[in-house]
Amino acid sequence: MDPATLVPLALAFGVLIGAGVTVVIFFAARRGQDAADVVNTAVPDGVDQVLDTLESAGVVIDPSNTVVKASPGALAFGLVWNRALVHPELISMVDKVRRTGEPITKEVQLARGPIGEASIYLWVRVARLGARYVLLIAEDRTEGYRLEEVRRDFVANISHELKTPIGAVGLLAEALVSAKDEPEQVKKFAKRLTKESERLAKITQEIIQLSRLQAADALTKPALVDVDSVLALAVDQNRVAADSHGIHLVSGGDEAYVYGDEALLVVALHNLVANAIQYSPDNSRIGIGVSNVDGIVEIAVTDQGVGIPDDEKDRVFERFYRSDPARSRNTGGSGLGLSIVKHVAQNHGGDVRVWSQPGKGSTFTIRLPEASPATAASLGAAQ
Ligand code: ADP
Repeated sequence: MDPATLVPLALAFGVLIGAGVTVVIFFAARRGQDAADVVNTAVPDGVDQVLDTLESAGVVIDPSNTVVKASPGALAFGLVWNRALVHPELISMVDKVRRTGEPITKEVQLARGPIGEASIYLWVRVARLGARYVLLIAEDRTEGYRLEEVRRDFVANISHELKTPIGAVGLLAEALVSAKDEPEQVKKFAKRLTKESERLAKITQEIIQLSRLQAADALTKPALVDVDSVLALAVDQNRVAADSHGIHLVSGGDEAYVYGDEALLVVALHNLVANAIQYSPDNSRIGIGVSNVDGIVEIAVTDQGVGIPDDEKDRVFERFYRSDPARSRNTGGSGLGLSIVKHVAQNHGGDVRVWSQPGKGSTFTIRLPEASPATAASLGAAQ
């Protein structure tokens, strides 16, 4: 191409690109302005300040259903887009209030965003604001609904978990009656009956324990607890089981105190030691150690047992979770033990962690905030 045609062509091309960029900048600026308007448009006196102080979402809508003011919360919940309410449910509430003049309060479930299946649950109140505007206030209730879901699952799980041993007890009782003339069979069924009833008693006790722990988020009357005595009691309770498998329990470590409930801490540590015994080979060693570093007391239970695969490490703390149901059932496990440990740790302001390598062993560590007896005494709070 000769330079005489190339120059005008390049010029025209340059003008075209320039125009394109200008249009893009213009629309971007307008969108930005729109967003700012939604947040800043002038509304009746005082409403601005009220919306700004609200923790919940607030939206003011004019007679053409245009959003003239939205609090940051309303934008964060995705209630407003392009100066309009996004969800038809909310628009129909606004229309109704405008028609009837009566305020409406309603709990609604809305899509969390334009994609995905997640929902948010909002408590929504819509009322007229002067003669011209309508005000919509929304509070997030999603957390409450989630807890309710968890509770429902829990009840379903319990029914399922109890049904199995109860069914087994019934069947074994029938078998016992039919085998009444065969002493060996009677002995066998009676033994299994005892085992199932023990399992039933254990699950019931653990469910009650767990429910109590969940009901109380924090301990009401924490006392100063000597971790050493928690260790001694938990180890003592597991001594017979350990001895019967030739397992050596070794305990010790730093001196430490925490605020809490000694009985609950013993239950938690008992569960960890009982698991360590359950999932370890005969004649192995289990260490129960305490360390007290930088205000955190760590109680670690280390075994040389079967270990836990990586993808199951988080799940073992879930209620009724067992990595190998068949094996766990044989060992009388309910899948609630670690869930109880987690709740006890949480109620004491701490947590529980696991390190594990399949085939090598596991370490479960309860971490709790340290209590200093000296400080407690100086404040007159030692017990
Ligand atoms: P369970 O009553 O079945 O032992 P837990 O809640 O105490 O229930 O434990 C959940 C699951 O975590 C167990 O079924 C087991 O698979 C796994 N687990 C717990 N502790 C250990 C451990 N020390 N070593 C290997 N696996 C363990």
